[in-house]
Amino acid sequence: MTNSTDTTSNQSLFNAASVHIPGGVNSPVRAFKGVGGTPVFVQKASGAYLFDAQGKRYIDYVGSWGPMILGHAHPDIVQAVIAAAADGLSFGAPTPSETTVADLICEIMPSMDMVRMTSSGTEACMSAIRLARGYTGRDKIIKFEGCYHGHADSLLVKAGSGMLTLGVPTSLGVPKDLAQHTLTLPFNDIEAVKACFKEYGDQIACVIVEPVAGNMNLVLPIKGFLQTLRDECTQAGSVLIFDEVMTGFRVALGGAQAHYGITPDLTTLGKIIGAGLPVGAFGGKREIMNCIAPLGGVYQAGTLSGNPLAMRAGIAMLKLIRAEGFYDQLAMKLSFLLNGLKAIADDVGIPLQVQQAGGMFGIYFTDSRDLSSYEAMTQCDVAAFREFFHGMLKRGVYLAPSAFEAGFISSSHSQADLEETLVAAQETLIEMKAG
Ligand code: PMP
Repeated sequence: MTNSTDTTSNQSLFNAASVHIPGGVNSPVRAFKGVGGTPVFVQKASGAYLFDAQGKRYIDYVGSWGPMILGHAHPDIVQAVIAAAADGLSFGAPTPSETTVADLICEIMPSMDMVRMTSSGTEACMSAIRLARGYTGRDKIIKFEGCYHGHADSLLVKAGSGMLTLGVPTSLGVPKDLAQHTLTLPFNDIEAVKACFKEYGDQIACVIVEPVAGNMNLVLPIKGFLQTLRDECTQAGSVLIFDEVMTGFRVALGGAQAHYGITPDLTTLGKIIGAGLPVGAFGGKREIMNCIAPLGGVYQAGTLSGNPLAMRAGIAMLKLIRAEGFYDQLAMKLSFLLNGLKAIADDVGIPLQVQQAGGMFGIYFTDSRDLSSYEAMTQCDVAAFREFFHGMLKRGVYLAPSAFEAGFISSSHSQADLEETLVAAQETLIEMKAG
């Protein structure tokens, strides 16, 4: 039996963490604010499973928010990290492995002629925006409601009261003067994009978008949305940035840009290229990348950028995910899981929709078929999600602890894991229906 006085219980660990760590966590979504209850403190992970400090096993559909596409502690990745560590942890000097990773990324994503490594997705997006501003000599940026691009000042901004009003900060500490340069538009609203370019076109440095949005649950781009962004940016001389921190090497090997056949000017990456180690990257057209220091006047730097552990883990990772059929298998596994879940929910009589993009998925407690906007996401039944989340957690299935996050599957999820997940879902949905 576990209780909160047992020092290995999640409650005890959370209480202890909360003494010296704000909110007991080092990144807010981990605090279970969206679902209530106590976060799971992970002791270790292997393949498709997380284990808490009491040894309880969870089938993991978060995968560190995307990077663990091979599952946890894959032997080739672990081996690469051990070998790299034995050669030294950081040098603050260039290494051959950085060149290998850059070459691989540019080969897999042909829109990128050059790439610069960072240590996080936040840095990648912040730097790409600075670069776009430096390259164009313009200040304004367009982003979309419900998309997340890290926590840089310019990005913690929501729309003003009217669609085309200038942005207002969503976080304390973000100067209004900075927020006013960020224009926030509804995701998938083609007319809003056109209207915005009509009004501000010659002032817009860049558009930054998650080509498949994974930070408001999962929202797919409607037909013509990404193409409109491409066309408007080209016409206005603005830089189109695809934030593929989540979708890169996840929606498809070549990311959402390969899947939808749209070529951005700059791309930001993270997560998978470090195989779970802290890493990010941004890159794109040579003409734009030439503006980055030391070649050009846009400053960007990092002591740990291109860290040798992250690079050598990334090389091992990229090799494995390039295997023939890797993405087809991932998508097939996920379809099996989602189709099964939908059938069970229909059977039990609980309104539920599912969507997937490669190895990423969304679960929506709604009977609406419109899953294309931030607004539609806010109309899903959050209370039902919470109940589902806790029912699944109790049964050893770990979902993202928020109704507004995408889920992720890995190549190490076995058929037995998927079936076990469906049994847990069936029990949970029946319990929910019974009230
Ligand atoms: N962009 C997207 C699309 C993301 O999902 C995230 C993080 N989830 C970021 C940027 C920021 O990355 P990081 O947390 O590594 O700073």
